[in-house]
Amino acid sequence: MFDLYIKNAKTATEEPIEIGITNGKIVAIEKKLQVKDAKKTIDLNHQSYLSAGWIDGHTHCYEEMNLYYDSPDTIGYTKGVTSVIDAGSTGADNIAEFYSLASQAKTNVFALVNISKTGIVHQNELADLTNIQEKKVSEVIKNYPDFIVGIKARMSKTVIGDNGIRPLELAKLIQEKNQAIPLMVHVGSAPPDLKTILSIMDKGDVLTHCYNGKLNGILNETGQIHDFVWDAYQKGIRFDIGHGTDSFNFAVAEQAKREKLICHIVSTDIYHRNREDGPVYNFSTVIEKMLFLGYALSDIIPMVTTNPAKAFQLKSKGTLEIGYDADITIFDVENKEKTLVDSNGNTRKTTQVITPIYTIIGGNDYRVGVEEDGLLQEI
Ligand SMILES: [Zn+2]
Repeated sequence: MFDLYIKNAKTATEEPIEIGITNGKIVAIEKKLQVKDAKKTIDLNHQSYLSAGWIDGHTHCYEEMNLYYDSPDTIGYTKGVTSVIDAGSTGADNIAEFYSLASQAKTNVFALVNISKTGIVHQNELADLTNIQEKKVSEVIKNYPDFIVGIKARMSKTVIGDNGIRPLELAKLIQEKNQAIPLMVHVGSAPPDLKTILSIMDKGDVLTHCYNGKLNGILNETGQIHDFVWDAYQKGIRFDIGHGTDSFNFAVAEQAKREKLICHIVSTDIYHRNREDGPVYNFSTVIEKMLFLGYALSDIIPMVTTNPAKAFQLKSKGTLEIGYDADITIFDVENKEKTLVDSNGNTRKTTQVITPIYTIIGGNDYRVGVEEDGLLQEI
C-alpha cells in the first residue's frame, strides 16, 4: 500500500501521470496506476501539472545574515519549491551555524560555500585576499558533504576591490583540491570583464546572472551575443539566470532566445527584499517570464529540476523515476493577465500565470496557500 497516491495529474507535455510514494521515495509511476488502497490520495482531476520538485539553484536563505537573507521555508515549500540552494551567503567561518538552522527547515536546503571565509557580510568579501583560505574551505566541504554542494565566487567590481581575476583563479584551485566540486561564478559590472571570467571557467562550471542588462553582459555593441560567449557556451559552461534585484533584463533574454543561447538553469537569486518588493517575488514569477519569452513548459521544467540537480550533483533529486526522492511540485497554469517586471523596470504583459498547488518533499505533502498549524502559508 502506498503512503501517498497522486492520481489524474498531467506532465508538462500534457501526458497523464500517476505516482505512488512509500517511505519518502517514488515507488511507482505510470500513466494510470492500478491502486486498491493508499494511506492518502491526492486526486488532481486531470487539471493540474506535476513535475519533479522545483529546485531553486540560486537563493540567499540564511536568516542570520545582515545583507542578503531570507527563510528557506518562506521561499521554499510554501511556494512550490522543494529544494533551495543558497549561493554563497556564508563562508567557512559561518556555514556551520547556517547548517544547523537550515536543517530545521521543511524545505531541502543546500549551500554553495563562499570562497571568502566571511560569506557576504560586506559587499566586498573578495577585496581582501586573506579572506580566501583554501584549507578552511576544504575543511567545511569535508565536514558537510550532504549540505555543501559547491563553491561560489562573486566576480564583480564592488566585490573584488583591486584583485582583478585573482579570486577566480583561487576558486579554481579550491575546486581542484576538492574533487572538481561544482563552481558558481557571479558576473556583474567590470572589472573583471566577462571575457576574462569565461576564459578561466571550465565545462560544468555555472555562470549566474547570465541575462543581466549591464554593459559587461553577454551582448556586444550591436546587440548580438559576443563570440566569446558562444565559445564558453559551446565549451559546456552552464548558464544560470539568477534573476535577482539587478540581473535579469527582458531585452537580453529575448535576444538570447532569438539566437538560441538557452540558459540551462532558471533560478531566482531571491532574498527578503526582492521577494517583498520585487522584481523577483517568488520562483513561479521567474518561471512565468520564461513562458512569456516563448519557451515551452516542457523545456522550462528541466531548467528547474533535472539541470540544477545535475549541475550541483544532487543525488536522487530532479527526476521522476522509481527510487528517487519523492520531491514533487504540483501546479496550475492559468490564462490570466499579469504584468511582469524585469530588474531594470521594463515590463511585459503575460497571459499565463503559474500557481503552485502542492509541494511534496520526501513524501510529505503541503497544500500551498492553505492554513497549516494555524499559520497561513502565503502564496
Ligand atoms: Zn546571489
